[in-house]
Amino acid sequence: MSFPDCRADLALRDGYHSPQVDVAVRLNTNESPYPPPEGWRRDLASAIDAVEFNRYPDRAATELREALALLHRVRPDQVFVANGSNEVLQSLCLAYGGPGRKAAVYEPTYALHSHIAHLTSTEVVQASRRDDFSVDVDLVADVTSFSKPDITFLCSPNNPTGDALPAAAAAEILGLSPGLVVVDEAYGDFADWSAVSLVDDEIPLVVTRTFSKTWAMAALRLGYLIGPARVVSALERVALPYHLDAFKQIAGRLAVAYDDEMRQRVGAIVSERSRLQSALGDLDVEVWPSEANFLLFRPESRKGDEVWHALVDRGVLVRNTASWPGLPSGCLRVTVGTPQENDAFLSALKETL
Ligand code: PMP
Repeated sequence: MSFPDCRADLALRDGYHSPQVDVAVRLNTNESPYPPPEGWRRDLASAIDAVEFNRYPDRAATELREALALLHRVRPDQVFVANGSNEVLQSLCLAYGGPGRKAAVYEPTYALHSHIAHLTSTEVVQASRRDDFSVDVDLVADVTSFSKPDITFLCSPNNPTGDALPAAAAAEILGLSPGLVVVDEAYGDFADWSAVSLVDDEIPLVVTRTFSKTWAMAALRLGYLIGPARVVSALERVALPYHLDAFKQIAGRLAVAYDDEMRQRVGAIVSERSRLQSALGDLDVEVWPSEANFLLFRPESRKGDEVWHALVDRGVLVRNTASWPGLPSGCLRVTVGTPQENDAFLSALKETL
């Protein structure tokens, strides 16, 4: 019996994976090292009792969107919610990309922007960031006038480099009319400035956010977007019916009440980031400034790949970005963990170097 082939173009690309190795200190996927607040767990346990599991959930996720709108001082019709911000990005490509349309990316950046564009048959226009990883607005102007992208992806703070897009650059890029501008702020809470402040119904800008990092709820798979109401309506057209389950809607709505705890956690991680950054600066490595919960560094005297293996042997897992396109060869990315995890990483790295 012959078996049907899947799309031939899928065979060319790997999915997006960060290999999980069973070690004591996992600093490879930029999660929060702390669990969510205890109070939230208790609230969730009692709220779950009231769910009518035999019924479909609220298709419009009304209460969750109201809570997020309040948090960001926007209207609920300017909020779209989905199963992780990756699904938000996919919805954007389905609604604004697709065959005959283009998405521009500035590399090195989050690999899923181009990956999802490819999966949705959106042509990817790849351009580079400057050597210091900042986005060159003049280059964006050239790409915009030459390729006329329907979507321009920007990531701020950028994964894997950690630098944030300055407010002035964001405003200038919006002035170039490069189609829909998507600012991926998965790490936005760790930075000083957010593009949410520029969101307006008449400006083609959307900002994507996630519960996976600052909110310490990666297991929940909840992400959202803040943007013009008409973009939110377009995304609703490509979302599957009842795509966001009742559990997630409640969990997210209850989480927003713990905004203060989230900010304290962000404060603790940002101060650990400074400590880690200066400790790395004292070692034989190049380390880049970061406004996220991770740091990109490059061992000077040993190959990045060797250092990655040596760290795993010492029970510490970081992200092996040693041969990522667009990055100087030999870079590694470490997530800021608890003070104990960061100490374990630093001593394993000192031994290795
Ligand atoms: N955007 C960026 C820049 C990320 O680094 C990640 C997580 N690796 C995501 C989006 C996806 O987050 P989520 O868990 O919400 O799908």
